[in-house]
Amino acid sequence: MRIATITNYAYIATVVLTLTSGIALFMASSAEHRERDTVARSRTFDALTDSLEREAFALSDMARDAVIKFTPDTLQSWKTRREQDINLENRLVALRDNGASDEEILILRDGLATLDQLEEEQSTAINDVQAGKNIEGVNQLFGGGYEDKLEEAEYRFAHFRSLVDQRTQASIKDATSLSLRLRTLSEVMVGLTALLFLFVLGFIIKHRILRPVVTLSDVVNRLATQDYNVETPVLAQVDEIGDMAQAIRIFRENGLARQRLEQERDKEWATRTLLARMTQRLQGCDTHSAIFRVVGRFAPQIIPDMGGRLYMLNTRTNRMKCVVRWGLPPGEDSPFPPEYCWALKRGQLHSPGRDTVDMPCEHILPELASRAICVPLNAQNKSIGLLTVDNYTPGKEPPYAYLELLAETLALALANQILRDTLTERATYDPLTGLRNRYSLEETLRNRIDQAMIENSTLSCLMLDVDYFKKLNDQYGHEAGDKVLREMAKLITETLDENSIAFRYGGEEFLIILPDVDEAKAMTVAEALLSNVYNHHMLYESQDIGPVSVSIGLATWPRHARADNLVRAADLALYMAKEQGRGKIVVAKSAE
Ligand code: GH3
Ligand code: MG
Ligand code: MG
Repeated sequence: MRIATITNYAYIATVVLTLTSGIALFMASSAEHRERDTVARSRTFDALTDSLEREAFALSDMARDAVIKFTPDTLQSWKTRREQDINLENRLVALRDNGASDEEILILRDGLATLDQLEEEQSTAINDVQAGKNIEGVNQLFGGGYEDKLEEAEYRFAHFRSLVDQRTQASIKDATSLSLRLRTLSEVMVGLTALLFLFVLGFIIKHRILRPVVTLSDVVNRLATQDYNVETPVLAQVDEIGDMAQAIRIFRENGLARQRLEQERDKEWATRTLLARMTQRLQGCDTHSAIFRVVGRFAPQIIPDMGGRLYMLNTRTNRMKCVVRWGLPPGEDSPFPPEYCWALKRGQLHSPGRDTVDMPCEHILPELASRAICVPLNAQNKSIGLLTVDNYTPGKEPPYAYLELLAETLALALANQILRDTLTERATYDPLTGLRNRYSLEETLRNRIDQAMIENSTLSCLMLDVDYFKKLNDQYGHEAGDKVLREMAKLITETLDENSIAFRYGGEEFLIILPDVDEAKAMTVAEALLSNVYNHHMLYESQDIGPVSVSIGLATWPRHARADNLVRAADLALYMAKEQGRGKIVVAKSAE
């Protein structure tokens, strides 16, 4: 039940109790008034009957005096007294109905009738005396019958007074008892009103002051410990406590907003820390695959709740190829031409779902196009790759800024890697023939000999030089010479198996390392090279250059040389082949 309803009921009850108490008090007062009235009437009755009785006896005495003395004075006195008695009787008759009971009235009437009889006898006696019958007159008033009547009259009045007294006493007792009961009732009502008032006061203090204050105090304590999950009570009461509850609610809402901002700031800080760490890790990468592993690890943390893919442009096929994916992105990983993607075409982030109308990318399935976000990886005004994410929490603003930051960081790392790869390739490979150059020879040879040592196997080395190459240059031109060198490299590569490694050692000199190959097998390879080159038709601009021969020096480790002079041994053998007329294979002299 609502407090207002309870207090309303309490107010009604208080009013009813107060009214009842007032009425009871009024009734008690009227009972007392009635009591006083009864007492007064009783006194009047008493006084009148006393007076009547006295007058009656006095009249009787005067009548007796008159019959004995029979003087005019005594006769006149009796007559005067008798008239007064009649007035008294009339007064008594006038009062007799005033609250007297039937029994009382009957007795009073009897008393008055007796008085009348006495007066009648007095008149008769006086008349007798006047008629000279003095003896009869005196006997009449002093006889036993007259005495009896006097006593009877006395008795009637005494009885009447006694009855009136009894009734008065009973009436006073009733009125007193009623008054007492009504006063008690009134006091009880006043007491109940006071109790009800105290109860309502206590109830209101408890429910509208103590309880809300305790609840609010608890809320304030929890808010003080930054526990903003606490529910603030909604108090509709229009008073200081209601104002306090309202203020606490506003304080909590402000606190929640502040906490939300702090959480967002913390989240942003965490994302920036992740981006910074990813940048550091990318700096430590020396291969593309290492970069892809870093992306696969960090991207799902930096842009959570989104699946994504990283594509790299394959310049040879001109296709965007998926190199890493995370967070189970929908759709397929198949390669696609760069012109399928609006982000690559514009060199800017493309998010068709961001605006009401925009162009979907062709490389994304039509049903997924509106939620896809593509970010190009731009380096030196070129798109070298692409980042695509599937924003599968629609309605939530995607972290465009972080996506762009991520793309920039990746573009920088990948551009660096591409540059490094280009430099490494340039430093390692000969641009004319595509074979390795002599600068990487030393390291490769050392590694292979170390491996042969561990495996307790052997390793052979062929030094190959084109015969009379200067003459060929002179005869057909430098361009033709270059063409011959490229053809030579192709023939060598085709002749060798996948374990062998060929280098362009110098101008028209080639060096071939044959791991796990002994002298005999190396000889077979050398012979194959010799014949393949000799039998190849060298053409330059449809012009037959004629057969080209090569001389080959062969050396095997550890049979012909130590690890550090194997190339030198092969070179010496080549020198010998030249010496012996060219187009030959010469095996190095045994180290022993
Ligand atoms: P030999 O049979 O003794 O080996 O005689 P050769 O003429 O082949 O040897 P020589 O060392 O006298 O000449 C090598 C020539 O190779 C000299 C140089 O002009 C030519 N040459 C070196 N590098 C290149 C190159 O990259 N392209 C072309 N076209 N010629 C080159
Ligand atoms: Mg040479
Ligand atoms: Mg030569």
